[in-house]
Amino acid sequence: MTHPLKADRRARTRPLTRAPQRLLLLLPLLLACADASREHTARTGSDVAASARAPQDIVDHHVHLLGPDIMRDWRSLGVTFSRPDSVYTSATAWLATQGLGVNRVVFVPMSHLYGSSELIEALDLDTDAQQTRVRRENDHVASEAARLGDRAVALCSAPVLAPWALDEYARCHAELRTAGLKLHLAASGVDLRDDTHLRQLERIAAWAEQFGLPMLLHLDTQRRGTDVADIRRFAEVVLAPHPALHVIVAHAGGSGGYGRWTRSVLGTLLTWLREVESSEGARRPITIDLSAVILEEESEGVPPSTTAERDALRADVRAAGVDRFVFGSDAPVFEPARSAQVLREVLGLTGDEAEAWWRGSAIAAWATGAVPPA
Ligand SMILES: [Zn+2]
Repeated sequence: MTHPLKADRRARTRPLTRAPQRLLLLLPLLLACADASREHTARTGSDVAASARAPQDIVDHHVHLLGPDIMRDWRSLGVTFSRPDSVYTSATAWLATQGLGVNRVVFVPMSHLYGSSELIEALDLDTDAQQTRVRRENDHVASEAARLGDRAVALCSAPVLAPWALDEYARCHAELRTAGLKLHLAASGVDLRDDTHLRQLERIAAWAEQFGLPMLLHLDTQRRGTDVADIRRFAEVVLAPHPALHVIVAHAGGSGGYGRWTRSVLGTLLTWLREVESSEGARRPITIDLSAVILEEESEGVPPSTTAERDALRADVRAAGVDRFVFGSDAPVFEPARSAQVLREVLGLTGDEAEAWWRGSAIAAWATGAVPPA
């Protein structure tokens, strides 16, 4: 029988199906998905509960919160939400659904969605309206994170090609005291083959490095024709000049799953890192988050991860060292406790290794707010 949420999904996303980029579809689909995965968790809950090594003390480096503007704008485009608004908008309401496993959280705004030309067109936004919405999303997530005290930090997100992007990052840093930047290259319309785009990204990277602010980077532009040479050039132009810049590469460099493209992007980044670190004789503070990399079921056109993909991820993570990677769930798309368990199995971590990994690596000190990243 077709899962009711899946049948529902097609109907509720129809108004947006002409949008060429997956990210526009992503939010409503994934919100529906969050419910589906909750049911999955319920089915497997007894296994998890039975395990003496059920995830605890997780630092989740990738959790999205939505602001009232995004909720309202999606609704105006025909999207419906299947759970109470507070689960998407409130840090405390979301955390209350998580049981005891999640201890500390990096909250990521979706402000970058307002960089998408399709969304701007659909909502008929002028620059002022776009900028106001971006600000309000960032304000909302920062104030929600603050409600959790030292258990949470907020990032600041902006459409990176907007002429005012750096102003917004600077405003977040000065006024909201956000802990770092989110850059979503696909939502922002970045083309890695365009030198002016690379220069803009480099300016943001230079600013982030100067202020010791980490950046969570959704690198995959989801553009046809981009290849690994473009990824390499991004690393050389944007990352190379900034040895102190903290970067967390989201989704292992892709946009979900561990297919051929994501694996080759990750391989390209890791090769560049090996070379630069051996020539500099020091480790770069660059880590990779594994959120949405292993899919238990189809998610927005990306099929469930195959055994070969799981084996490949394990081999690649083991070869580079588990401490190069951080845990993230991409909630509310996926459930942190379930994601933690799945990644533990895929990576073949022992109980002690898993607990250390879930608690995070050097970057976790930043996530706790206890230690500045630089
Ligand atoms: Zn995300």
